[in-house]
Amino acid sequence: MRVAVIAIAALTLTGCARISSLNPWGGGEHGGAGAPHGWSYEGATGPAHWGELSSACAAGREQSPVDLASSVAAAARAPDIRWQAAHSAEVLNNGHTIQVSLERAGGVVIEGETYELAQVHFHHLSEHTVDGRAFPMEAHFVHEGPDGRLAVIGVFIEDGERHAALDAIWEAAPSTFGEAALEERFDPRAFLPERTASYRYRGSLTTPPCSEVVDWTVMATPIQASAQQIAIFAHAFPGNARPVQPIGRRFVLRTP
Ligand SMILES: [Zn+2]
Repeated sequence: MRVAVIAIAALTLTGCARISSLNPWGGGEHGGAGAPHGWSYEGATGPAHWGELSSACAAGREQSPVDLASSVAAAARAPDIRWQAAHSAEVLNNGHTIQVSLERAGGVVIEGETYELAQVHFHHLSEHTVDGRAFPMEAHFVHEGPDGRLAVIGVFIEDGERHAALDAIWEAAPSTFGEAALEERFDPRAFLPERTASYRYRGSLTTPPCSEVVDWTVMATPIQASAQQIAIFAHAFPGNARPVQPIGRRFVLRTP
C-alpha cells in the first residue's frame, strides 16, 4: 500500500509518473511493455524475429553487439573524444529505453572524420559482453557522422557508487512513452571512465533495422551506479539487450 501512496503523490506533484517513482523492488508498471514500432525483446516480436522487419537483422555479417573477449591488442588509435556540457537535453521514454537527446554536446574524431554526439541511451543488461560476462547496464553515446555513418561509444555500468548525473535523468524520465526537458545541465564527460583503454570494431545498430553503419568503441573500464539506480532502470526495462552476434570475419581491436 505504501508504494501506491508514493506513486500517487508523484503523479499529483508532476502530473506524469517518472521511472524513479516506480518501486524498483516490487511488481507493477513497466515502461518497456508492449512492442512499439513492431519489435520488442521477447516472444513473437523478439530478437529472433527482427529479420522479418529488416533482413540485415537476420542476414547481416557485421551485427552488434558481440562478445569482446577475442580482442587483439593493437596500436589502433583511440577515438578523440571532444564532449562538452550539452546546450540542452530532453529525456525520452521511447518504449524500448530511456534516451537523452542532446544539442551541442561536442563529438568525437575518428580517422579524421568528425561525428556529432546526438543522444545517449541505456541498456540492461549490457549488450556487449566480455568472455560471456554481461555488466548490469551499458550506456550508448550515439554520434552522427558523414554519409549516414554512426560512431557509438559504449560505457559499461557496474554496481557500486551512486552516479550523480543518473539521478536527474531517472527523475525526469517518463514511466511510459513521453518526453521531458532535463533541467540539470547534462555533461557527457561525467560518464567517461578515467582509463581510456577501449575495444573497437565495425558493427551495426543493436535494434531494427540493424543497419551496418556503426563504428563501435566500447570502453574497457566500467563506471559505477548504485544498486538502486540500476534497479530503477531494470524495473522499467526488465531486459532491453540484444543477444551477442557472431563476430564472423571481423576483428575486435583493443587500444591502450
Ligand atoms: Zn543502444
